[in-house]
Amino acid sequence: MDQSFFVKTYGCQMNQYDSEKIDELLVHNGFKKAKNLEMSDVAILNTCHIREKASEKFYSDLGRLSIFKKNKEKLGEKMQIVVMGCVAQAEGHEVIKRNSMVDYVVGPQNIQSIPKLLKTKSNETIHTSFLCDQKFSSFPKSYHEGASRQITIQEGCDKFCSFCVVPYTRGNEYSRSVEEIYVEAKNLVENGAMEINLLGQNVSSYNSHVFDKSKKKKLINLSKLCNILSSLPKLKRIRYITSHPSDINDDLILEHKNNKKLMPYLHLPVQSGSNKILKKMNRKYSKEKYINLINKIKYEVKNMAFSSDFIVGYPGETDDDFQETLDLIDKVAFASSYSFKYSPRPGTPASLIEDKIDEPTLNKRLNKIQKKLNEQQQIFNETFLDKEIDVLFTNLGKKNNQFVGRTPFLQPVHVFSSSDLVGKILKIKIERLTSFSFHGKILSS
Ligand code: SAM
Ligand code: SF4
Repeated sequence: MDQSFFVKTYGCQMNQYDSEKIDELLVHNGFKKAKNLEMSDVAILNTCHIREKASEKFYSDLGRLSIFKKNKEKLGEKMQIVVMGCVAQAEGHEVIKRNSMVDYVVGPQNIQSIPKLLKTKSNETIHTSFLCDQKFSSFPKSYHEGASRQITIQEGCDKFCSFCVVPYTRGNEYSRSVEEIYVEAKNLVENGAMEINLLGQNVSSYNSHVFDKSKKKKLINLSKLCNILSSLPKLKRIRYITSHPSDINDDLILEHKNNKKLMPYLHLPVQSGSNKILKKMNRKYSKEKYINLINKIKYEVKNMAFSSDFIVGYPGETDDDFQETLDLIDKVAFASSYSFKYSPRPGTPASLIEDKIDEPTLNKRLNKIQKKLNEQQQIFNETFLDKEIDVLFTNLGKKNNQFVGRTPFLQPVHVFSSSDLVGKILKIKIERLTSFSFHGKILSS
């Protein structure tokens, strides 16, 4: 009988992409999908290591799942547990030390080996080599459909910010070939995609090449890749995430200015507004450089909106440093943002710094920054009330005849309609704003 599987995903969009690829690989290899982890013969946990909370959530789920597996075994039923993703890569030995019911620990660049491991029952538990080339060339054609899809184009990071585990869990920077990405994008578009989000831990450092007609090597950076993909007629929207401020070049700004398919929304994490903290973080830019870059982009691309990530309470951050971050937020005016309390990660240089910020201060700063960022998001959103905007509808809403889509600036929009709107871009009049979602009515197609 076919074995069944279920994948639970923690963390970022790159993990979501890997989970989808594992799903496709297993279906391609004759496995069938189960409804949930407990009902599966193969339970796969695709883990995140970026902050302590994310990895602790995984360990507690793993604890529950292994008790379930033991009980199943008492009834003579079998279950295999596979731990994949960034916790697997960073602390595979710790995973099996903490839980002996795990069958395989598979790093993010070994996921292509999962079908074989399950079929041949390998004696080796830990599989954590960095095999990017093999990974991406092993994926079968995607069978998933959807109006908005994503493609990992770049993996790993060479920047080594002092707080971050990514260079250790995802390895060196690797860019997929243009041909491979183009073929994948074309297939997604044929399956109904109108929007593609290009993913990478450091997507703006994407760097590959093609050979032109005279067999001359041509370098392809992110802006050129966006340009190439925009030649797919049915592809209407291109996005990318996540960029590093040091990698944003004039080519990319120009591409935003000239390529209407490239959405005017840029997630550009600054992390802190204090030069002292940015230096300690090894971010390789100053707050002045960041603000100048934002102003340059705003000047060239009139409707560009920005979002960012912030870390509060990096070791040694004083009230004055934190105030500088708040000042930077005032200067930029973000459309939306994510903010996190600093979380020491094993193996990172920052985790060795002793000058930690106490929990009450961390909480106070997080509340303060989130209040400010939410106010900015509210102000940005209010500028759209009573205006018309193009919305790409991607999903059904929770209510009857309700559909959900996104504006070019990623704001969710809810609309009622008796005909199916999924896969359509429509002009919507924005009537109401509740929390961070819009409600509107259709004006025209
Ligand atoms: N490559 C992106 C960049 O350079 O900004 C960031 C990618 S990282 C996967 C996503 C976000 O997680 C970061 O921007 C940062 O704000 C947050 N993050 C990473 N490590 C963290 C840590 N140790 N504690 C708290 N937040 C962290
Ligand atoms: Fe982590 Fe981003 Fe820094 Fe790379 S650039 S180390 S992914 S925060």
